[in-house]
Amino acid sequence: MSQPGPLIGVLSLQGDVREHARSIERAGARAVAVGSEAVLSGVQGLVIPGGESTTMSKLALADGLMEPLRDARRAGLPMYGSCAGMIMLADQIEDARPDQEAIGGIDMVVRRNAFGRQVDSFEIDVDVPALGSAAFPAVFIRAPWVESVGPDVEVLARVNRGGDEGTIVAVRQGALLATAFHPELTGDDRIHGMFVQMVSSR
Ligand code: GLN
Repeated sequence: MSQPGPLIGVLSLQGDVREHARSIERAGARAVAVGSEAVLSGVQGLVIPGGESTTMSKLALADGLMEPLRDARRAGLPMYGSCAGMIMLADQIEDARPDQEAIGGIDMVVRRNAFGRQVDSFEIDVDVPALGSAAFPAVFIRAPWVESVGPDVEVLARVNRGGDEGTIVAVRQGALLATAFHPELTGDDRIHGMFVQMVSSR
């Protein structure tokens, strides 16, 4: 019998929780929805889905989850944030609402709704060298982008918007992973697989 994989939580305040849980399971781990501190304390990794980071911030504060999430992150719990989840893991947010709070942890500046000024949502193939040579089908929905990163942040993918070196859309720092796009909507589980690996190797 094969070993059961690690137990990975999906923060269930908002967003496409079920899709992430399915991707996590296809990538070889077990998934559980996390809506309370008690469940959070039992997981070995946490996915923070897309949605709306201002709403997620409000709900996390109202439910008393913001501090436990920050504590878990400081204690080294691996976290993967997609889209709004990426914003939640950023140390600095541009275009944030004044009362918006985040978990933080990745030394980067993200800009909310950055692509949205040009087009609300789109899908493009993105090269993610750490995942191999096949491009990743990336779905962006009112997505943020990463404006700058600190020295300890590994850039995993960029999107080329003509000529320049490209806009950063996927990063990793220590136990934290973040993408501006939504891999849970594509059926390509390689990003979730990378996260399961990060959780398993700790
Ligand atoms: N624009 C959203 C925000 O600021 C993110 C969109 C998404 O997660 N699809 O939180």
